[in-house]
Amino acid sequence: MITPATPPAAANDYDPSAMPVAAARRFIQSWLVPISDAALCPLRDSLGRVLAENIVSPLNVPAHRNAAMDGWAIRHRDISTPHQTFTEIGTSFAGKPFTNDVRAGECVRIFTGAVIPETCDSVVMQERVTRNAHVITLNEDVVQGQHVREVGEDLREGAIALLAGKQIHPAELGLMASIGIGEVRVYRPLRVAYFSTGDELVQIGQPLVAGQLYDSNRYTLHGMLTRMGIEAIDLGVAADDPVELKKILIHAASTADVVITTGGVSVGEADYIKPILAELGQVVFWKIAMKPGRPLAYGKIGIAHFFGLPGNPVSVMVTFYQFVRLALMTLQGVSPLPAEPLFNAVCTTAIKKIPGRTEFQRGILTFDGDDWCVRTTGAQGSGILNSMSQANCFIVLDDNADNVDAGTTVKVQLLEGII
Ligand code: AMP
Ligand code: MG
Repeated sequence: MITPATPPAAANDYDPSAMPVAAARRFIQSWLVPISDAALCPLRDSLGRVLAENIVSPLNVPAHRNAAMDGWAIRHRDISTPHQTFTEIGTSFAGKPFTNDVRAGECVRIFTGAVIPETCDSVVMQERVTRNAHVITLNEDVVQGQHVREVGEDLREGAIALLAGKQIHPAELGLMASIGIGEVRVYRPLRVAYFSTGDELVQIGQPLVAGQLYDSNRYTLHGMLTRMGIEAIDLGVAADDPVELKKILIHAASTADVVITTGGVSVGEADYIKPILAELGQVVFWKIAMKPGRPLAYGKIGIAHFFGLPGNPVSVMVTFYQFVRLALMTLQGVSPLPAEPLFNAVCTTAIKKIPGRTEFQRGILTFDGDDWCVRTTGAQGSGILNSMSQANCFIVLDDNADNVDAGTTVKVQLLEGII
């Protein structure tokens, strides 16, 4: 289970009514201790999990010198004239090597991946020779060693193939399979319990009456959590009722490493989360200088971490991607954390912005042949979930930024890969 970290003294230095985004991220990180329970897991099932040990290669990859191209294996020292000829004496297929000696002036027909005969050192591509029955004539110069994959070229026996802390994606599955590893030690999945709050929320399948709406936040959360390799525990919808909220929060904190709620964190009359959290655990901070997404609660209930996200569907996604995702990766044991994928693009639409907070506008990034250009998805209301669906990036306007004129360079954060 997670052991709580000591809060940093610096926490009190921040203005609690509006903590800057970067400070809030650092602050959350200072509270997190990665899980340490690990177990062996069959390779396929390890997708999305985090390595709890270094993976050392038990063999050389490739294990044998082999051809990188289809063609003929030759001995480079046999070339004495630009149009040297060679006589084909056999074939080396992938998985079926040619084992006889190759002597001066001889060559072996070879296919990609096939073992290079012992005395040969170079491969000539089939497109670069003229073939006449069993005799080939070179059409161009041959560099010694060309199109030969050397033993251990990808990975040396005994070398570290993957470091502990690496999250397992398809490439890692393949890499481990390539060195014959069928079981890996990974951290147990992080358990995240989540529920929506709001008297107005209705479950899919029920009719809507005036003032009601379908709960969409549990669906975006299901998607965002599941794609991270997390064990997502859906606790449903809680009414804006302090007694019910308290009960469900206590239950959530006792079964999960992290509890996420949506809604009920502003200062509206029916916003109970904050006082309940203060009673059950600790509220660590509350308001962040950002849009959308302010307010956001972070705290602890016992040893469970708590994130109280705003109710608006876009705010849920933005705060998840800006704060919760990295926190969950840290708890999952991911190390090092991925760098923030920010880069510059020319903004082709004007954007209204007031200094003093970071804005995450939903943007569409395109390449116009010369430059990366970005435009907003249009209306940016925090309830317009369609904007997240259209967007392929956030346009990140930092605290100091003022209105953005069309043609200005702005920072964008790609959603591809995190969504
Ligand atoms: P709140 O933060 O509870 O004041 O909610 C802000 C807005 O988000 C309100 O318009 C809510 O109706 C809406 N909202 C809250 N929770 C959800 C949800 N789970 N799904 C869709 N909309 C929601
Ligand atoms: Mg509400």
